[in-house]
Amino acid sequence: MAKITLSNLAHSYLPNPKSEADYALKEMDHVWDDGGAYALLGASGCGKSTLLNIISGLLHPSEGRVLFGDEDVTDAPTAQRNIAQVFQFPVVYDTMSVRENLAFPLKNRGAKPAYVAERVQTIARMIGMEDVLDRKARGLTADAKQKISLGRGMVREDVNAILFDEPLTVIDPHMKWELRTQLKSLHREFGHTMIYVTHDQTEALTFADKVVVMHDGRVVQMGTPEELFETPAHTFVGYFIGSPGMNLLDAEVRGKTAHIEGVEIPLEATYTAPQGRTQIGVRPEFASLSTGHQGLPVTVTRVEDVGRHRIVRADFLGQEINIIASEGAEIAADATRVIFDPARVNVYVDDWRLSPETAQGKAA
Ligand code: ADP
Ligand code: MG
Repeated sequence: MAKITLSNLAHSYLPNPKSEADYALKEMDHVWDDGGAYALLGASGCGKSTLLNIISGLLHPSEGRVLFGDEDVTDAPTAQRNIAQVFQFPVVYDTMSVRENLAFPLKNRGAKPAYVAERVQTIARMIGMEDVLDRKARGLTADAKQKISLGRGMVREDVNAILFDEPLTVIDPHMKWELRTQLKSLHREFGHTMIYVTHDQTEALTFADKVVVMHDGRVVQMGTPEELFETPAHTFVGYFIGSPGMNLLDAEVRGKTAHIEGVEIPLEATYTAPQGRTQIGVRPEFASLSTGHQGLPVTVTRVEDVGRHRIVRADFLGQEINIIASEGAEIAADATRVIFDPARVNVYVDDWRLSPETAQGKAA
């Protein structure tokens, strides 16, 4: 197993890229820790598969290096990288039985028959296919074939990393949950570095210790679920993660106050006059309705009951502000203001989170 380093990595599918827009992956520097369970999360087309295929060696990056441990593998073919990869759609050998499919990566490496038999049995149990081990893969449903693909990705214990590219797309919802749980327990047991690509925040947040959020060819944040929730580094992380996502409002920020349409919003920290488009970002969890005279004037347009809490949709000069209210909390008829917890207000300039100033100077 190995730590994976991406050094000045960038990729363009064009032969002569000219501007940044020509790059599917903009330049990035990253280290993926040995043994980490990562989710690579982002909308369709943001570059997730491109990045995964560069790590596995299916794609040669146009710029930069890929290191496994201290070894530069940029020019090494996939086979030499000792990586297992599971794709979005099943890749199975139709003429082989389920057992032979699962055994293939082990036999290919010359594993002993007794070990192969035992390992295949273990994996078959994990993916719920013990009963069909001797069936030919041909004729099985897409769902079953994908489980075989997953099993094949997990069968080897000696890999540097296991890469999953949206592997549960064709799996039914109940089995999805079950397989994700299995992947997590496999991670706990063997400690492989795992990178799991998904566009689904629930999948990402439940699977990973660290979530890597991509947007438009860039990694915009690598953090724990808590970090993504509390201090989104980029406005994209704010609104992509959470339901509903973070409220973003254009503001003028001076010192410890944000000004929006003549209303003063207290901040916990001090900011020096930011240059560029300035916004404040507040998650709905940290916004509340008030009957007082402080805060932004709003009109409540809708209240949605979503089980453990309610989502209040409020209108502020044509812009929607979302507020999460607890189930029992009364929503007063004369609540015409929304206030924010000052400690939970983030400041963004041109979409990137601004670090507040500390007594010692700028925070990291
Ligand atoms: P994701 O996996 O996040 O959906 P991809 O990595 O597949 O995103 O794609 C990133 C960008 O690169 C997209 O704009 C896509 O159209 C482009 N792209 C992906 N594969 C190729 C390719 N083989 N040739 C040219 N452009 C590609
Ligand atoms: Mg993809």
